[in-house]
Parts: sequence; C-alpha cells; structure tokens
Amino acid sequence: MTVSKLRGAGYKATPQRLAVLRALAAEQHQSLEEIRIRCPEVGLVTIYRALDLLSGIGVVRRLDLGDGPRYELAENHHHHLICESCGGVAEFEKCPIDSRLLQDMDFEVTSHSLEIYGHCSECR
Ligand SMILES: [Zn+2]
Ligand SMILES: [Zn+2]
Ligand SMILES: [Zn+2]
Repeated sequence: MTVSKLRGAGYKATPQRLAVLRALAAEQHQSLEEIRIRCPEVGLVTIYRALDLLSGIGVVRRLDLGDGPRYELAENHHHHLICESCGGVAEFEKCPIDSRLLQDMDFEVTSHSLEIYGHCSECR
C-alpha cells in the first residue's frame, strides 16, 4: 500500500527507499540513527532524502518529540503520550480534536498533530 502510494506520486520504489520503509516498519518513532542502524547498506544522505520524500507525499510522519526528529509510518491517525522522565512514547488513537471548534477560524485544516507530555506509570 505504501509502495503503491510512492508509485502513485510518480516516484520509483528504489531498493534504497524500500530499505528505509522496511526499517520504518520495524518500529514507530525512530530517530535517524536508529533507522540508519536498521539499513546499514543505505548511505545517510540517501536515508535523509528518502525520509524527506516520503514525508512529502504523506507516507511518513516526522515528529518532534523534544529530542530531535523521529519518524514513523503515517498509516493510521493517532497521537502521542510522551514520558518526560524516560522519553517513552505511547500512542493513543482516540482523536480529541473536534474540527467543529475551528469552524469560525477561516482556516482550511489539512492535518494536525498532538503530543501530550507527562509521566508514564513506571516513572511516577
Ligand atoms: Zn517513563
Ligand atoms: Zn506514533
Ligand atoms: Zn487527531
């Protein structure tokens, strides 16, 4: 499905891009370094370009969770609970954003992100 999206946007599913996608599929919210370890055959610049391209067409989401950029596959809409002590990230899928609240704002919403900070059960 992700590959067809890549082709649909007019890009080739090169071995490097597929390696990056495979690395991303292994775990959500990885840093560039973690992705690099998972596809050592792809150069860092190529990984960076692939991530750029994949975020541009909406296949990958780039997150700022406070400790540098992290990347995840953007397959389902969800939000993040971030522990300020251990840096752990949990996902929740119940979206609390009610777009009716934005009706008066004369703003066309294309996407949104929401991160909740606090302490996980192990860090309290
Ligand atoms: Zn924690
Ligand atoms: Zn996530
Ligand atoms: Zn949402």
